[in-house]
Amino acid sequence: MTLLTDEERLLRESVRAFLDRKVAPLVAEHERARTFPWDILPALHDYGYVRGLVAPEDGGEGIGYTMLAILMEEAGRCWGSLRTTMNILTIVPYLISAVGTQEQKDRFLPGLLSGERRGWFAMTESDAGSDAAALRTIARRDGDDYILSGRKLYITNASHADMGIVMATVDPEAGAKGVTAFLLDGRESPYEVHEIPHMPVRGTSSCEMVFDDVRVPAANVLGEVGRGLATAMRAINVGRLNMAMGAVGLSQAALEESVAFAKAREQFGRQLGGFQLVQEMVVEIATLTQTSRLLGMNAARTLDAGLPGRFECSMAKYYCGESANRAASLALQVHGGAGLMEESPVERIFRDAREATIPEGTSQIQILQMGRELLGVSALR
Ligand SMILES: Cc1cc2nc3c(=O)[nH]c(=O)nc-3n(C[C@H](O)[C@H](O)[C@H](O)COP(=O)(O)OP(=O)(O)OC[C@H]3O[C@@H](n4cnc5c(N)ncnc54)[C@H](O)[C@@H]3O)c2cc1C
Repeated sequence: MTLLTDEERLLRESVRAFLDRKVAPLVAEHERARTFPWDILPALHDYGYVRGLVAPEDGGEGIGYTMLAILMEEAGRCWGSLRTTMNILTIVPYLISAVGTQEQKDRFLPGLLSGERRGWFAMTESDAGSDAAALRTIARRDGDDYILSGRKLYITNASHADMGIVMATVDPEAGAKGVTAFLLDGRESPYEVHEIPHMPVRGTSSCEMVFDDVRVPAANVLGEVGRGLATAMRAINVGRLNMAMGAVGLSQAALEESVAFAKAREQFGRQLGGFQLVQEMVVEIATLTQTSRLLGMNAARTLDAGLPGRFECSMAKYYCGESANRAASLALQVHGGAGLMEESPVERIFRDAREATIPEGTSQIQILQMGRELLGVSALR
Protein backbone atom coordinates (compact mmCIF):
# COMPACT_ATOMS: atom_id res chain seq x y z
CA MET A 1 0.00 0.00 0.00
CA THR A 2 1.10 3.57 -0.61
CA LEU A 3 0.87 6.18 2.10
CA LEU A 4 -2.60 7.67 1.98
CA THR A 5 -4.25 10.57 3.76
CA ASP A 6 -6.90 9.63 6.34
CA GLU A 7 -9.63 10.56 3.88
CA GLU A 8 -8.10 8.43 1.11
CA ARG A 9 -7.57 5.47 3.45
CA LEU A 10 -11.17 5.68 4.65
CA LEU A 11 -12.44 5.67 1.08
CA ARG A 12 -10.32 2.62 0.22
CA GLU A 13 -11.47 0.72 3.30
CA SER A 14 -15.15 1.52 2.88
CA VAL A 15 -15.36 0.83 -0.85
CA ARG A 16 -13.35 -2.39 -0.49
CA ALA A 17 -15.62 -3.61 2.31
CA PHE A 18 -18.70 -2.80 0.22
CA LEU A 19 -17.39 -4.49 -2.94
CA ASP A 20 -16.23 -7.57 -0.99
CA ARG A 21 -19.62 -7.89 0.65
CA LYS A 22 -22.03 -6.93 -2.14
CA VAL A 23 -20.33 -7.43 -5.49
CA ALA A 24 -17.66 -10.15 -5.14
CA PRO A 25 -20.25 -12.86 -4.39
CA LEU A 26 -22.01 -12.06 -7.70
CA VAL A 27 -18.94 -12.18 -9.96
CA ALA A 28 -18.72 -15.89 -10.84
CA GLU A 29 -22.40 -16.09 -11.80
CA HIS A 30 -22.28 -12.95 -13.98
CA GLU A 31 -19.01 -14.01 -15.67
CA ARG A 32 -20.61 -17.30 -16.64
CA ALA A 33 -23.79 -15.63 -17.94
CA ARG A 34 -21.88 -12.65 -19.46
CA THR A 35 -24.18 -10.25 -17.64
CA PHE A 36 -23.75 -7.32 -15.26
CA PRO A 37 -25.68 -6.66 -12.01
CA TRP A 38 -26.96 -3.21 -13.00
CA ASP A 39 -29.03 -2.88 -9.84
CA ILE A 40 -25.82 -2.34 -7.78
CA LEU A 41 -25.17 0.98 -9.54
CA PRO A 42 -27.01 3.43 -7.23
CA ALA A 43 -25.04 2.18 -4.20
CA LEU A 44 -21.78 2.59 -6.13
CA HIS A 45 -22.66 6.19 -6.99
CA ASP A 46 -22.59 6.94 -3.25
CA TYR A 47 -18.85 6.11 -3.16
CA GLY A 48 -18.01 8.50 -6.02
CA TYR A 49 -18.22 6.22 -9.04
CA VAL A 50 -19.98 7.83 -12.04
CA ARG A 51 -20.54 11.25 -10.46
CA GLY A 52 -17.12 11.66 -8.83
CA LEU A 53 -15.46 13.77 -11.55
CA VAL A 54 -18.51 15.90 -12.26
CA ALA A 55 -18.30 19.40 -10.81
CA PRO A 56 -20.49 19.99 -7.71
CA GLU A 57 -22.36 22.82 -9.50
CA ASP A 58 -23.38 20.24 -12.13
CA GLY A 59 -24.68 17.79 -9.52
CA GLY A 60 -21.46 15.79 -9.07
CA GLU A 61 -18.93 15.46 -6.28
CA GLY A 62 -15.69 16.85 -7.73
CA ILE A 63 -13.69 14.23 -5.80
CA GLY A 64 -10.37 14.60 -7.63
CA TYR A 65 -8.17 12.12 -9.44
CA THR A 66 -6.44 10.50 -6.45
CA MET A 67 -9.78 9.47 -4.98
CA LEU A 68 -10.87 8.28 -8.43
CA ALA A 69 -7.66 6.23 -8.70
CA ILE A 70 -8.47 4.51 -5.42
CA LEU A 71 -12.01 3.75 -6.63
CA MET A 72 -10.68 2.26 -9.87
CA GLU A 73 -8.05 0.14 -8.13
CA GLU A 74 -10.72 -1.28 -5.83
CA ALA A 75 -13.08 -1.93 -8.75
CA GLY A 76 -10.29 -3.76 -10.61
CA ARG A 77 -9.39 -5.81 -7.52
CA CYS A 78 -13.02 -6.91 -7.25
CA TRP A 79 -13.84 -7.55 -10.93
CA GLY A 80 -12.32 -6.34 -14.23
CA SER A 81 -15.78 -5.89 -15.74
CA LEU A 82 -16.74 -3.58 -12.89
CA ARG A 83 -13.69 -1.37 -13.52
CA THR A 84 -14.35 -1.24 -17.27
CA THR A 85 -18.01 -0.35 -16.72
CA MET A 86 -17.24 2.27 -14.06
CA ASN A 87 -14.65 3.85 -16.36
CA ILE A 88 -17.06 4.49 -19.18
CA LEU A 89 -19.94 5.49 -16.88
CA THR A 90 -17.64 8.00 -15.15
CA ILE A 91 -16.13 9.46 -18.32
CA VAL A 92 -19.36 10.31 -20.16
CA PRO A 93 -20.84 12.66 -17.50
CA TYR A 94 -17.34 14.03 -16.79
CA LEU A 95 -17.00 15.17 -20.42
CA ILE A 96 -20.48 16.67 -20.48
CA SER A 97 -19.73 18.58 -17.28
CA ALA A 98 -16.29 19.68 -18.56
CA VAL A 99 -17.20 20.90 -22.06
CA GLY A 100 -21.00 20.72 -22.43
CA THR A 101 -23.38 23.66 -22.76
CA GLN A 102 -25.82 24.40 -19.93
CA GLU A 103 -28.63 23.01 -22.08
CA GLN A 104 -26.68 19.75 -22.65
CA LYS A 105 -25.92 19.46 -18.94
CA ASP A 106 -29.59 20.01 -18.05
CA ARG A 107 -30.70 17.38 -20.56
CA PHE A 108 -28.23 14.60 -19.87
CA LEU A 109 -26.57 14.93 -16.47
CA PRO A 110 -29.55 14.30 -14.14
CA GLY A 111 -30.31 10.92 -15.78
CA LEU A 112 -26.67 9.85 -15.95
CA LEU A 113 -25.91 10.90 -12.38
CA SER A 114 -28.98 9.19 -10.94
CA GLY A 115 -28.20 5.97 -12.83
CA GLU A 116 -31.48 6.15 -14.73
CA ARG A 117 -29.48 6.47 -17.98
CA ARG A 118 -26.11 5.05 -19.06
CA GLY A 119 -23.68 6.24 -21.72
CA TRP A 120 -21.08 4.92 -24.19
CA PHE A 121 -18.09 6.57 -25.85
CA ALA A 122 -17.55 5.72 -29.54
CA MET A 123 -14.33 6.57 -31.33
CA THR A 124 -12.78 3.37 -32.78
CA GLU A 125 -13.59 2.19 -36.30
CA SER A 126 -12.39 -0.75 -38.39
CA ASP A 127 -9.70 1.41 -40.09
CA ALA A 128 -9.20 3.88 -37.24
CA GLY A 129 -7.94 2.25 -34.04
CA SER A 130 -4.59 3.54 -32.81
CA ASP A 131 -4.82 6.11 -35.62
CA ALA A 132 -8.06 7.61 -34.30
CA ALA A 133 -7.82 10.72 -36.48
CA ALA A 134 -8.35 8.49 -39.54
CA LEU A 135 -11.99 7.93 -38.59
CA ARG A 136 -14.53 7.91 -41.43
CA THR A 137 -17.89 8.32 -39.70
CA ILE A 138 -19.21 11.45 -41.34
CA ALA A 139 -21.51 14.19 -40.04
CA ARG A 140 -23.09 16.22 -42.87
CA ARG A 141 -24.79 19.53 -41.95
CA ASP A 142 -28.47 19.70 -42.90
CA GLY A 143 -30.24 22.83 -41.62
CA ASP A 144 -30.37 22.70 -37.81
CA ASP A 145 -29.17 19.10 -37.78
CA TYR A 146 -26.23 16.91 -38.72
CA ILE A 147 -26.74 13.57 -40.46
CA LEU A 148 -24.37 10.87 -39.20
CA SER A 149 -23.28 7.85 -41.27
CA GLY A 150 -20.66 5.28 -40.35
CA ARG A 151 -19.73 2.37 -38.12
CA LYS A 152 -17.93 2.10 -34.81
CA LEU A 153 -16.22 -0.97 -33.36
CA TYR A 154 -15.57 -2.45 -29.90
CA ILE A 155 -17.71 0.13 -28.11
CA THR A 156 -18.04 -0.84 -24.46
CA ASN A 157 -21.58 -1.39 -23.17
CA ALA A 158 -23.30 0.32 -26.13
CA SER A 159 -25.95 -2.42 -25.90
CA HIS A 160 -26.60 -1.52 -22.24
CA ALA A 161 -26.95 2.24 -22.73
CA ASP A 162 -29.20 4.53 -24.71
CA MET A 163 -27.04 7.62 -25.18
CA GLY A 164 -23.41 8.43 -25.70
CA ILE A 165 -20.65 10.47 -27.28
CA VAL A 166 -19.69 9.69 -30.86
CA MET A 167 -16.73 11.05 -32.81
CA ALA A 168 -17.38 11.93 -36.46
CA THR A 169 -15.79 14.14 -39.06
CA VAL A 170 -17.57 17.16 -40.49
CA ASP A 171 -14.93 17.34 -43.24
CA PRO A 172 -12.96 14.22 -44.25
CA GLU A 173 -10.45 16.41 -46.15
CA ALA A 174 -9.59 18.31 -42.95
CA GLY A 175 -8.10 15.25 -41.17
CA ALA A 176 -7.84 15.70 -37.39
CA LYS A 177 -9.27 19.25 -37.70
CA GLY A 178 -12.62 17.89 -38.95
CA VAL A 179 -13.21 15.53 -36.02
CA THR A 180 -16.15 16.62 -33.87
CA ALA A 181 -17.80 15.13 -30.77
CA PHE A 182 -21.59 14.66 -30.79
CA LEU A 183 -23.97 13.76 -28.01
CA LEU A 184 -26.28 11.12 -29.38
CA ASP A 185 -29.57 10.38 -27.66
CA GLY A 186 -30.88 7.01 -28.84
CA ARG A 187 -34.43 8.07 -27.91
CA GLU A 188 -34.42 10.84 -30.54
CA SER A 189 -31.71 9.53 -32.92
CA PRO A 190 -32.01 5.72 -33.19
CA TYR A 191 -28.96 3.67 -34.22
CA GLU A 192 -28.11 -0.06 -34.50
CA VAL A 193 -25.98 -2.01 -32.00
CA HIS A 194 -24.57 -5.54 -32.40
CA GLU A 195 -22.64 -7.32 -29.65
CA ILE A 196 -19.30 -8.93 -30.56
CA PRO A 197 -18.33 -11.90 -28.34
CA HIS A 198 -14.99 -11.22 -26.66
CA MET A 199 -12.42 -12.77 -24.31
CA PRO A 200 -11.88 -10.47 -21.28
CA VAL A 201 -14.25 -8.48 -19.04
CA ARG A 202 -17.18 -10.75 -19.78
CA GLY A 203 -19.62 -8.72 -17.72
CA THR A 204 -19.35 -5.96 -20.34
CA SER A 205 -20.44 -5.93 -23.96
CA SER A 206 -18.18 -4.99 -26.90
CA CYS A 207 -20.32 -3.59 -29.68
CA GLU A 208 -20.40 -2.64 -33.29
CA MET A 209 -22.54 0.46 -33.78
CA VAL A 210 -24.13 1.38 -37.10
CA PHE A 211 -25.20 4.95 -37.88
CA ASP A 212 -27.23 4.95 -41.06
CA ASP A 213 -28.22 8.56 -41.81
CA VAL A 214 -28.93 9.27 -38.16
CA ARG A 215 -30.27 12.80 -37.65
CA VAL A 216 -28.67 14.66 -34.70
CA PRO A 217 -29.52 18.25 -33.69
CA ALA A 218 -26.60 20.66 -34.20
CA ALA A 219 -27.19 21.66 -30.55
CA ASN A 220 -25.75 18.23 -29.66
CA VAL A 221 -22.21 19.12 -30.77
CA LEU A 222 -20.12 18.59 -27.61
CA GLY A 223 -17.39 21.21 -27.38
CA GLU A 224 -16.40 22.97 -30.59
CA VAL A 225 -16.80 21.76 -34.16
CA GLY A 226 -13.40 20.44 -35.28
CA ARG A 227 -12.10 20.12 -31.70
CA GLY A 228 -13.38 16.58 -31.13
CA LEU A 229 -9.94 15.06 -30.70
CA ALA A 230 -9.09 17.57 -27.97
CA THR A 231 -12.38 16.67 -26.24
CA ALA A 232 -11.62 12.95 -26.67
CA MET A 233 -8.12 13.43 -25.26
CA ARG A 234 -9.57 14.73 -21.99
CA ALA A 235 -11.54 11.50 -21.69
CA ILE A 236 -8.65 9.32 -22.82
CA ASN A 237 -6.21 10.80 -20.30
CA VAL A 238 -8.61 10.01 -17.46
CA GLY A 239 -9.35 6.64 -19.11
CA ARG A 240 -5.63 5.84 -19.05
CA LEU A 241 -5.44 6.61 -15.35
CA ASN A 242 -8.55 4.50 -14.74
CA MET A 243 -7.19 1.57 -16.75
CA ALA A 244 -3.81 1.81 -15.04
CA MET A 245 -5.37 1.71 -11.58
CA GLY A 246 -7.79 -1.04 -12.61
CA ALA A 247 -4.72 -3.03 -13.65
CA VAL A 248 -3.17 -2.38 -10.22
CA GLY A 249 -6.34 -3.84 -8.72
CA LEU A 250 -6.01 -6.95 -10.90
CA SER A 251 -2.37 -7.36 -9.79
CA GLN A 252 -3.42 -6.94 -6.16
CA ALA A 253 -6.08 -9.61 -6.59
CA ALA A 254 -3.50 -11.89 -8.27
CA LEU A 255 -1.22 -11.36 -5.26
CA GLU A 256 -3.91 -12.10 -2.68
CA GLU A 257 -5.02 -15.26 -4.50
CA SER A 258 -1.40 -16.45 -4.85
CA VAL A 259 -0.52 -15.89 -1.20
CA ALA A 260 -3.65 -17.72 -0.04
CA PHE A 261 -3.08 -20.61 -2.44
CA ALA A 262 0.63 -20.98 -1.67
CA LYS A 263 -0.14 -21.12 2.06
CA ALA A 264 -2.98 -23.62 1.73
CA ARG A 265 -1.64 -26.12 -0.81
CA GLU A 266 0.90 -28.81 0.01
CA GLN A 267 3.21 -30.76 -2.29
CA PHE A 268 6.21 -32.90 -1.36
CA GLY A 269 4.90 -32.91 2.21
CA ARG A 270 5.12 -29.14 2.78
CA GLN A 271 3.26 -25.98 1.84
CA LEU A 272 3.97 -24.49 -1.60
CA GLY A 273 4.85 -21.18 0.04
CA GLY A 274 7.91 -22.83 1.60
CA PHE A 275 9.56 -23.43 -1.78
CA GLN A 276 12.02 -20.73 -2.81
CA LEU A 277 10.86 -20.71 -6.45
CA VAL A 278 7.26 -20.16 -5.37
CA GLN A 279 8.36 -17.38 -3.03
CA GLU A 280 10.18 -15.76 -5.94
CA MET A 281 6.99 -15.72 -8.02
CA VAL A 282 4.90 -14.31 -5.17
CA VAL A 283 7.44 -11.59 -4.40
CA GLU A 284 7.64 -10.63 -8.07
CA ILE A 285 3.84 -10.24 -8.17
CA ALA A 286 4.01 -8.08 -5.02
CA THR A 287 6.77 -5.91 -6.50
CA LEU A 288 4.94 -5.44 -9.79
CA THR A 289 1.78 -4.51 -7.87
CA GLN A 290 3.45 -1.95 -5.66
CA THR A 291 5.55 -0.30 -8.41
CA SER A 292 2.41 -0.08 -10.55
CA ARG A 293 0.44 1.48 -7.72
CA LEU A 294 3.13 4.09 -7.12
CA LEU A 295 3.15 5.08 -10.81
CA GLY A 296 -0.64 5.21 -10.98
CA MET A 297 -0.93 7.31 -7.82
CA ASN A 298 1.80 9.60 -9.13
CA ALA A 299 -0.24 10.17 -12.31
CA ALA A 300 -3.36 10.88 -10.23
CA ARG A 301 -1.56 13.32 -7.94
CA THR A 302 -0.06 15.05 -11.00
CA LEU A 303 -3.58 15.63 -12.37
CA ASP A 304 -4.78 16.80 -8.95
CA ALA A 305 -1.95 19.35 -8.95
CA GLY A 306 -3.57 20.88 -12.06
CA LEU A 307 -0.85 19.71 -14.44
CA PRO A 308 -1.70 18.08 -17.80
CA GLY A 309 -0.29 14.70 -16.68
CA ARG A 310 -0.24 13.23 -20.20
CA PHE A 311 3.23 11.73 -19.80
CA GLU A 312 2.47 10.41 -16.31
CA CYS A 313 -0.85 8.84 -17.41
CA SER A 314 0.83 7.23 -20.44
CA MET A 315 3.63 5.80 -18.31
CA ALA A 316 1.16 4.48 -15.74
CA LYS A 317 -1.10 2.94 -18.40
CA TYR A 318 1.87 1.29 -20.12
CA TYR A 319 3.60 -0.02 -17.01
CA CYS A 320 0.52 -1.03 -14.99
CA GLY A 321 -1.05 -2.82 -17.98
CA GLU A 322 2.06 -4.79 -18.85
CA SER A 323 2.73 -5.55 -15.17
CA ALA A 324 -0.80 -6.84 -14.58
CA ASN A 325 -0.28 -9.31 -17.43
CA ARG A 326 2.98 -10.51 -15.89
CA ALA A 327 1.46 -10.65 -12.40
CA ALA A 328 -1.58 -12.59 -13.64
CA SER A 329 0.60 -15.02 -15.56
CA LEU A 330 2.78 -15.63 -12.48
CA ALA A 331 -0.32 -16.09 -10.31
CA LEU A 332 -1.58 -18.69 -12.74
CA GLN A 333 1.77 -20.48 -12.49
CA VAL A 334 1.62 -20.45 -8.68
CA HIS A 335 -1.79 -22.13 -8.93
CA GLY A 336 -0.65 -24.87 -11.33
CA GLY A 337 -3.56 -26.62 -13.08
CA ALA A 338 -6.10 -25.11 -10.71
CA GLY A 339 -5.32 -21.65 -12.15
CA LEU A 340 -6.50 -22.69 -15.58
CA MET A 341 -9.92 -23.82 -14.33
CA GLU A 342 -12.82 -21.43 -14.74
CA GLU A 343 -13.76 -21.87 -11.09
CA SER A 344 -10.49 -20.17 -10.08
CA PRO A 345 -10.54 -16.33 -9.85
CA VAL A 346 -7.03 -16.39 -11.33
CA GLU A 347 -8.39 -17.66 -14.66
CA ARG A 348 -10.62 -14.57 -14.87
CA ILE A 349 -7.86 -12.23 -13.65
CA PHE A 350 -5.58 -13.58 -16.39
CA ARG A 351 -8.20 -12.91 -19.10
CA ASP A 352 -9.13 -9.49 -17.71
CA ALA A 353 -5.48 -8.40 -17.43
CA ARG A 354 -5.12 -9.08 -21.15
CA GLU A 355 -7.44 -6.13 -21.82
CA ALA A 356 -5.20 -3.70 -19.95
CA THR A 357 -2.61 -3.23 -22.72
CA ILE A 358 -5.07 -2.43 -25.54
CA PRO A 359 -7.94 0.10 -25.10
CA GLU A 360 -7.21 3.79 -24.29
CA GLY A 361 -4.05 3.49 -26.42
CA THR A 362 -2.08 0.26 -26.73
CA SER A 363 1.24 -0.17 -24.90
CA GLN A 364 3.02 0.62 -28.18
CA ILE A 365 1.10 3.88 -28.58
CA GLN A 366 1.94 4.90 -24.98
CA ILE A 367 5.62 4.22 -25.71
CA LEU A 368 5.53 6.32 -28.89
CA GLN A 369 3.76 9.18 -27.13
CA MET A 370 6.31 9.16 -24.29
CA GLY A 371 9.13 8.80 -26.83
CA ARG A 372 7.90 11.90 -28.64
CA GLU A 373 7.94 13.87 -25.42
CA LEU A 374 11.40 12.64 -24.39
CA LEU A 375 13.09 12.89 -27.78
CA GLY A 376 11.17 15.70 -29.45
CA VAL A 377 10.46 13.67 -32.56
CA SER A 378 7.26 11.76 -33.37
CA ALA A 379 7.49 8.18 -34.62
CA LEU A 380 3.75 8.28 -35.36
CA ARG A 381 3.55 10.54 -38.41
C1 LIG B 1 -12.37 -4.61 -24.52
C2 LIG B 1 -12.26 -3.39 -25.38
C3 LIG B 1 -13.05 -2.28 -25.12
C4 LIG B 1 -12.97 -1.15 -25.94
N1 LIG B 1 -13.82 -0.10 -25.71
C5 LIG B 1 -13.82 0.95 -26.57
C6 LIG B 1 -14.79 2.00 -26.41
O1 LIG B 1 -15.63 1.99 -25.50
N2 LIG B 1 -14.77 3.03 -27.31
C7 LIG B 1 -13.87 3.08 -28.33
O2 LIG B 1 -13.91 4.03 -29.09
N3 LIG B 1 -12.96 2.08 -28.52
C8 LIG B 1 -12.93 1.02 -27.66
N4 LIG B 1 -12.03 0.00 -27.84
C9 LIG B 1 -11.10 0.06 -28.96
C10 LIG B 1 -9.66 0.31 -28.54
O3 LIG B 1 -9.50 1.65 -28.14
C11 LIG B 1 -8.76 -0.09 -29.73
O4 LIG B 1 -8.85 -1.51 -29.84
C12 LIG B 1 -7.32 0.34 -29.53
O5 LIG B 1 -7.20 1.74 -29.58
C13 LIG B 1 -6.40 -0.27 -30.58
O6 LIG B 1 -6.90 -0.11 -31.87
P1 LIG B 1 -7.03 -1.39 -32.83
O7 LIG B 1 -7.72 -2.47 -32.08
O8 LIG B 1 -7.61 -0.94 -34.11
O9 LIG B 1 -5.54 -1.88 -33.07
P2 LIG B 1 -4.50 -1.33 -34.18
O10 LIG B 1 -4.42 0.15 -34.09
O11 LIG B 1 -4.82 -1.94 -35.49
O12 LIG B 1 -3.15 -1.94 -33.63
C14 LIG B 1 -2.77 -3.30 -33.83
C15 LIG B 1 -1.36 -3.48 -33.27
O13 LIG B 1 -0.45 -2.62 -33.99
C16 LIG B 1 0.21 -1.75 -33.07
N5 LIG B 1 0.40 -0.45 -33.71
C17 LIG B 1 -0.54 0.35 -34.30
N6 LIG B 1 0.05 1.47 -34.76
C18 LIG B 1 1.36 1.40 -34.43
C19 LIG B 1 2.48 2.25 -34.62
N7 LIG B 1 2.37 3.45 -35.21
N8 LIG B 1 3.70 1.84 -34.16
C20 LIG B 1 3.82 0.65 -33.52
N9 LIG B 1 2.80 -0.20 -33.31
C21 LIG B 1 1.59 0.16 -33.76
C22 LIG B 1 -0.71 -1.65 -31.86
O14 LIG B 1 0.01 -1.28 -30.69
C23 LIG B 1 -1.25 -3.08 -31.79
O15 LIG B 1 -0.29 -3.90 -31.16
C24 LIG B 1 -12.07 -1.11 -27.02
C25 LIG B 1 -11.25 -2.23 -27.27
C26 LIG B 1 -11.35 -3.35 -26.47
C27 LIG B 1 -10.48 -4.54 -26.79
